[in-house]
Amino acid sequence: MSAGSPPAIPGLQIRNRSRLKILAMRLRGQSDTRGSGYYSRVRKILHVDMDAFYASVEQRDNHELRGKPVIVAWQAKRSVVCAASYEARTFGVRSAMPAVRAQRLCPQAIFVPPDFTRYRAVSRSVHEIFKRHTDQIEPLSLDEAYLDVTQNKTGLPTATLVARAIRAQIREELNLTASAGAAPNKFLAKLASDWRKPDGLFVIQPEEIDAFLLPLPVERLPGVGKVTGEKLASLNVKTVADLRTLASSELEARFGKYGVRLFELARGIDGSPVVSDRPTQSISVEDTFEQDVLLQETEPMIRRLAEKLWAVSRKEKRTPQTMVLKLKTSEFKILTRSYTPSSPPSCCEELIEIALRLRERVQASPEQRYRLVGVGLSNFREAQDAAAQPALFDGVD
Ligand SMILES: [Mg+2]
Repeated sequence: MSAGSPPAIPGLQIRNRSRLKILAMRLRGQSDTRGSGYYSRVRKILHVDMDAFYASVEQRDNHELRGKPVIVAWQAKRSVVCAASYEARTFGVRSAMPAVRAQRLCPQAIFVPPDFTRYRAVSRSVHEIFKRHTDQIEPLSLDEAYLDVTQNKTGLPTATLVARAIRAQIREELNLTASAGAAPNKFLAKLASDWRKPDGLFVIQPEEIDAFLLPLPVERLPGVGKVTGEKLASLNVKTVADLRTLASSELEARFGKYGVRLFELARGIDGSPVVSDRPTQSISVEDTFEQDVLLQETEPMIRRLAEKLWAVSRKEKRTPQTMVLKLKTSEFKILTRSYTPSSPPSCCEELIEIALRLRERVQASPEQRYRLVGVGLSNFREAQDAAAQPALFDGVD
């Protein structure tokens, strides 16, 4: 291979051999048992997740940060952790944790302000590597994506080989590590990518689904949070094996439409397709108060929600244009106020300011109480449009 050509793809020879085998079978008049019929039944899905992405990019680009606890966060009073290196994680630091708490847990940590322009550029390079293998890519954020490699461009015969090739290319070309999971569907692939993290690959073959899934605590299933977990525990359901004992009708009666999904997840079933280029339309976060509050008492909650929203929106490739404030009265009446500034907010404080100004536009009796408040971002625009004004959006340093 010449010096200028791309690095060798592991399994390239196997690809050729496999093609020869299929050709030989055709010549003999046999059918390929792994032809279209096989593929239409069994999909090959990968979930690829960059390890501690923002922190790893910082460590890669600044050798003084390597091997040290690095926390990517703004140095502001109320900011949250965007990413933590594995060295920082050993102290219990996690993403989305308040930066103040992270500093208490790990006082020697080095705080680095996020540089999303750079993370987006690296994310594009990762995407380019994915595109060598398949066009069916569903990005979840800058650092993770689902890939349908049932029929992949390189002709590698197994999802394992495709995952290996992608991980090797990311390591060799970008000097970063990614973990990958390979499975017959998205839900299992995501569980698998988490299994050998960091820098790991885990494969769930169709015949291995039960052995993998049954011992897992139900909380590992997507959508099972605290409330559903407790509800299931009251039914003596702690593991996926326990969940399997419940009939579809019973789950539906207790959990509605999600009950049917639970029934399927417990059996490793997930028919959801890998949807490429699904653009985000809006993101919102909301919370219900323990006791209904007056409008003037909503500020701490609005601040908290806006910070959460800001952190989540940082993972989006596109930029939101409109900010929304939502309130629900004690009588369940929903009020929304929205604002589209001439340029998107450049920092979390600005977002909070807008949310609080929107609150001033709520005209109601001072005695009116509210049970819920929410903040949202909508009207997302392509990154190319936003790139024209990076200083406004990435004003973090
Ligand atoms: Mg990640």
